[in-house]
Amino acid sequence: MVATILCVEDNPQNMRLVRKMLNSAGYQVIEAQDGESGYTTILEQRPDLVLMDVNLPDIDGLQVTSAVKALPDYSHIPIIALTANAMHGDRERCLEAGCNGYVPKPVTKNELLSNVAYYLEQAERRTI
Ligand code: MN
Repeated sequence: MVATILCVEDNPQNMRLVRKMLNSAGYQVIEAQDGESGYTTILEQRPDLVLMDVNLPDIDGLQVTSAVKALPDYSHIPIIALTANAMHGDRERCLEAGCNGYVPKPVTKNELLSNVAYYLEQAERRTI
């Protein structure tokens, strides 16, 4: 079964890049350009995994993550934060907000795909 991955990203160039990487590995990609639509897309489409940009024009990606993780029916969906703030303590902030993983920007294909595969496999193992 092909996994569906939601990419929440407001930068069209980053979105295109990430989509290309995911498509090359055979994943189905759905997109949201801001936090609000990211949140509703998660509720409506139940993606297998979410790539969450932290800096979004409306709601912070970490706030969206916390809101999703507070919903028992959705909290199992792995969320990987993508952030340009490669600052000290950033990883901790992401994990505190409930993100399962963290990939700093600029994203490399190798790092993205290995994280996606890892968290999809982990989520699958939990449901068996
Ligand atoms: Mn952004």
